[in-house]
Amino acid sequence: MPAEILEHTFYPHTTEARLLRSSAMEFAESAVAPRALRLDSMPPEEVLGEAVAIVREAAANRLLSIIVPEEVGGPGGLTYEGANVLEVLAYYDAGIATTIGAIWLGLLPPFIAGLGDGGESWRRWLKPFLEAEESGDPQIWAFAITEPEAGSDYERVEPGSRPAMTTVARPLPSGGYEISGRKIFIPNGPIASHVTVFAVTDPQRPIETMMCAVVTREMGFKVAQVFDKMGHRSSPTGELVFEEVRVPEENVLCKPGSGWEYVEMTLTLSRAPVGAIGLGIAKRAFQAAFDYARQRIQGGRPLVEHQVVKMKLARMLERIAYAENLIYTTTRKIDEAPTPLKALESSLAKAVGADVAVENALEAIQIHGGYGYMREMGVEKLLRDAKLIQIYEGTNEINRLTAIERYTQYGGVLLD
Ligand SMILES: Cc1cc2nc3c(=O)[nH]c(=O)nc-3n(C[C@H](O)[C@H](O)[C@H](O)COP(=O)(O)OP(=O)(O)OC[C@H]3O[C@@H](n4cnc5c(N)ncnc54)[C@H](O)[C@@H]3O)c2cc1C
Repeated sequence: MPAEILEHTFYPHTTEARLLRSSAMEFAESAVAPRALRLDSMPPEEVLGEAVAIVREAAANRLLSIIVPEEVGGPGGLTYEGANVLEVLAYYDAGIATTIGAIWLGLLPPFIAGLGDGGESWRRWLKPFLEAEESGDPQIWAFAITEPEAGSDYERVEPGSRPAMTTVARPLPSGGYEISGRKIFIPNGPIASHVTVFAVTDPQRPIETMMCAVVTREMGFKVAQVFDKMGHRSSPTGELVFEEVRVPEENVLCKPGSGWEYVEMTLTLSRAPVGAIGLGIAKRAFQAAFDYARQRIQGGRPLVEHQVVKMKLARMLERIAYAENLIYTTTRKIDEAPTPLKALESSLAKAVGADVAVENALEAIQIHGGYGYMREMGVEKLLRDAKLIQIYEGTNEINRLTAIERYTQYGGVLLD
């Protein structure tokens, strides 16, 4: 299927971003598109090997290291570049976009630590990540904060609420910590070499005592289950168990008490790019509906010549134009000065990207009629994939509550 809508962008991208989009498209056409429908119908455990193989191919195309800072030899991209790659990948398969996005999500806390320690954390974590990509044996990262009883409550949008977090970090006399607990819904968890884990030293005071550390596979976390999901089925997502896992001091990214700041900053940097995953799905839905409407004859002429269908297609385009401009304006703004103050815009960009994905996927199914309901067309997959964007990275409700709270907090002043 030609990807015209990926080539036609409403946002005036830079020349470098256009080149990056082209190389992401080239990779996706060869490594993702041919596998997408097959991976979607496979049992979760059988996807693991293929997901690793795709990550290796992405590494061979130098797509993983785009967020590694120039100071340690990387290309120095951040949310704008990341969003461009995720949008393109999601057009072909949202699960693969989630796999690559989850690697970056896991790497963001060391990236953030490096902003404050003169680049020490970049040398410790991001340089080896780059080198591993170059060697052809890439590291696979994951980000783990969610627990069975602790989801939306992390963001404390209700006065006085606090997350019922039970993953505990016990300080060791020799330095470092022993981590015990359970994390759920972790993309890449079952295939990860490195997991950025959040834990507390006192579960009664979770926000006040939250810390985070890098736990490597050799340290011994276990995969309790690989979830069987509605969509993003090519993204292996697991429950991870930590049983007295000993983590040395050098793997600690932030001390007890600053963990939540790291989460806030991470989400500020990750939410707008997650909106771009939604944008990629919305574009795929438009392209599929447009192509089908051009060839399907009903009432003696192609569907696309019926005014009601034209109007639906125009509305789909309108949503794409709106989301695209919001997401890329936001990512450029974040990258100019990455601070948690940009959480307002980033949360809105995520929520909008998610909603346009669901709305366009629903419309694409409707334009396909009965065929749209059949798995072989790949259009119902778009709806299953789109739904997750409204749920992960904080639900859309929580993102919107966060945005309005931030707006109120800043006295209505939008920060440039
Ligand atoms: C496939 C997948 C991938 C994920 N990836 C990651 C990851 O990489 N790392 C990670 O740590 N976590 C990840 N998550 C977890 C995800 O971020 C959470 O599922 C999400 O934040 C919602 O939390 P919850 O599931 O506990 O739902 P709950 O918090 O129980 O929410 C249930 C419902 O109640 C609503 N709600 C909750 N509180 C309020 C409130 N105060 N006001 C109004 N409405 C409210 C929510 O909007 C939602 O509709 C992932 C989840 C999934 C499904």
